[in-house]
Amino acid sequence: MRVYLDNNATTKIDPLVKVKMQPFFEELYGNPNSLHAYGMEVRPHLNEALGAVYDALNIPDEDDVLITSCATESNNSVLKGVFFKHILTNPDKNHIVTTAVEHPSVLETLLFLEEHGVRVTFVDVDENGGVSAQAVKDAVTDQTILISMMWANNETGMIFPVAEVAKFAREKGILFHTDAVQAIGKLPVDLKKVRVDYLTLSAHKFHGPKGIGALYVRKGCELPNLFHGGEQMGGKRAGTLNVPYIVGMGLAIRQAVNHVEVMNTQVRALRDELEDALAKIPDTFIVGPRHMRTPNTILLSIRGVEGEAMLWDLNRAGIAASTGSACASESLHANPVMSAIGQDPELAHTAIRLSLSRFTTLEEVEYTIEVFTKAVERLRSISSTYGYKG
Ligand code: PLP
Repeated sequence: MRVYLDNNATTKIDPLVKVKMQPFFEELYGNPNSLHAYGMEVRPHLNEALGAVYDALNIPDEDDVLITSCATESNNSVLKGVFFKHILTNPDKNHIVTTAVEHPSVLETLLFLEEHGVRVTFVDVDENGGVSAQAVKDAVTDQTILISMMWANNETGMIFPVAEVAKFAREKGILFHTDAVQAIGKLPVDLKKVRVDYLTLSAHKFHGPKGIGALYVRKGCELPNLFHGGEQMGGKRAGTLNVPYIVGMGLAIRQAVNHVEVMNTQVRALRDELEDALAKIPDTFIVGPRHMRTPNTILLSIRGVEGEAMLWDLNRAGIAASTGSACASESLHANPVMSAIGQDPELAHTAIRLSLSRFTTLEEVEYTIEVFTKAVERLRSISSTYGYKG
């Protein structure tokens, strides 16, 4: 049996999305900027896909959605765009507030900007992996130009107080960006209710294709172009549009939003069943109260069991899990969010993330419980030689 429980890293393409994309690799391959029939016939499909993004997030018509190649590009565009537009021209406002547990596409970009004179405050997480709105507010100074805070964390699934901080930022005249990659399709995201200035999304996290994403930009908060070239996207982001993937993203986001309810009932129930079973294993630590997490995610740590060793055992039984962010998975490492929580250094090395999707079945969950429990027994019996006391 093969079980995929690494849906926070990437998801499988929704079969309907795959079917929808197919004609755009075959007969509908024109460049939408061309003035002949081949070009013109794909334009309505692009408009439909863009419209689906507006509908899914309830985006006001006057605001902008830029198509990007991924969430990493969207995050870079906001942070570097704010640097070019605001910080370079007014160095008195050179402070950015973020959290210590953002995705590397935010953290690394901010470390790069620090080398160029930007001051950054990385707000710590609490013992649950949560971020308090007050801690973010307290980090703000008269020099703060931007707050960048993710909607939900990719490692723990913890949901951050985006609505409250966005409101605060607005009142203070500070720009607000949220990386909503892990929220879309799992939580309601309504941009008429939660008034952010920038929002990042990525299609492959909600059963769309990899290599396509978007950046929402509120009217009045436009940023300088980072990709100069042709007239695509109204000249705001040059480069020939990836039509099949944009069309795929359009249907995927529609489907994702239509399944938020399913995620919060059926998938949540499966996640809870898995979590309840794993929590019975002695010396298990689960990060964050589950009502404060996205409905599909568990980050847990089992004393005496190396995360990578566990992954290996699971993988041999056909189960895909993760020790944390896929972007850091090529070397043995401590889970960065576990490290940021800072409870016990050992926990960071014993972290396992299990993330479900709407395609996960009860049979798969039951099989995982069985394999996981046996793997813990096996690995503990090996590691007892090296000091595990049980
Ligand atoms: N932001 C978050 C919260 C993520 O989980 C990820 C992917 O792991 C990214 C950004 C980067 O997404 P992409 O692969 O589309 O660049």
